[in-house]
Amino acid sequence: MRVVVFSTKPYDRGFLEAANQGRHDLAFQEPHLSVETAPLAAGADAVCLFVHDHADAAVIDALAALGVRGIALRCAGYNNIDLAAAARRGLAVSRVPAYSPHGVAEHAAALLLAVDRRIHRAYDRVRDGNFSLDGLLGFDLYGKTVGVIGTGKIGACFARIMTGFGCRVLAHDIVENPAVRALGAEYVPLDRLFAEAHVISLHCPLTPQTHHLIGAAALARMRKGVFLINTGRGPLIDTTAVIRALKSGRLGGLAIDVYEEEEGVFYEDLSAAILADDVLARLLTFPNVIVTSHQAFFTREAMTAIAETTLANLDDLAAGRPCPNAVRA
Ligand code: NAD
Repeated sequence: MRVVVFSTKPYDRGFLEAANQGRHDLAFQEPHLSVETAPLAAGADAVCLFVHDHADAAVIDALAALGVRGIALRCAGYNNIDLAAAARRGLAVSRVPAYSPHGVAEHAAALLLAVDRRIHRAYDRVRDGNFSLDGLLGFDLYGKTVGVIGTGKIGACFARIMTGFGCRVLAHDIVENPAVRALGAEYVPLDRLFAEAHVISLHCPLTPQTHHLIGAAALARMRKGVFLINTGRGPLIDTTAVIRALKSGRLGGLAIDVYEEEEGVFYEDLSAAILADDVLARLLTFPNVIVTSHQAFFTREAMTAIAETTLANLDDLAAGRPCPNAVRA
């Protein structure tokens, strides 16, 4: 099959080519998929998409008119695809439901350790010949209470890591995970988690119920000086409310791998441009904030698993077989 891969970065190409081993004719394109770029899929049987590609109804129509039969997402989320339109135009959609929960959980732990112990500041400071400790004071994780919101695959890994540090884990989820309970974690309502946790880490999906889960009201119920980690999705947090909480000291630290308005910014080299997003620019001024560019998934193991599953999904499409990773409206 001929497959046009949108939003290609050099690392995507490397892992996809290694997994493909010549089975499909992969054509790599750098642009994101949109109505304007859809014609790049001319002659393709399928397109391979990532999180910032948009397949709304107009794009699906354009792809179908070009003869494209399938969309292979090389990510877990599919909120960027109009599934009803895909079904209407007969395009099969597949995704990679799980790759490495460990990688994401470990990145959340890395963010927590870095923002707590001010590693980002220490790194710059020492390289600049400044060996003072002023402003670098952290706290022991040992004995602290960590609130984990969303205890699925990633949240469970994060909870396990935190118990390894000697933390007490309070969990919150709409479905309890026995593996998390077995770690000694206690499931509690959000109010109690907010009131007791020294650290809160978000691992739930973005849904209408979780949109702005962390807003002004939630922040007001938290301990003063709480540290907040978000490797889930940007809109779980109301960024404006979080900035107010950082300014007041309610939040003692913030480390995020995802951001409400990350599209068009994250994954791009904008180092020679003027940052147009004033909210993000303000966030980056705080000494107790770390932002990474949606990289929590970015490990060799996860990239290999993503590429292998994506190619297996394409094999199913080519063979006309049912795909276990199909996504339907
Ligand atoms: P998962 O489906 O295994 O777990 C999600 C958990 O959240 C489930 O247990 C679910 O019951 C729970 N949940 C759903 N609604 C909830 C609510 N209203 N309140 C509390 N809990 C709720 O998913 P996962 O593989 O653990 O991934 C979790 C999230 O991490 C994903 O949805 C995605 O947004 C994010 N993610 C980020 C990256 C990254 O690179 N930063 C990579 C992969 C996944």
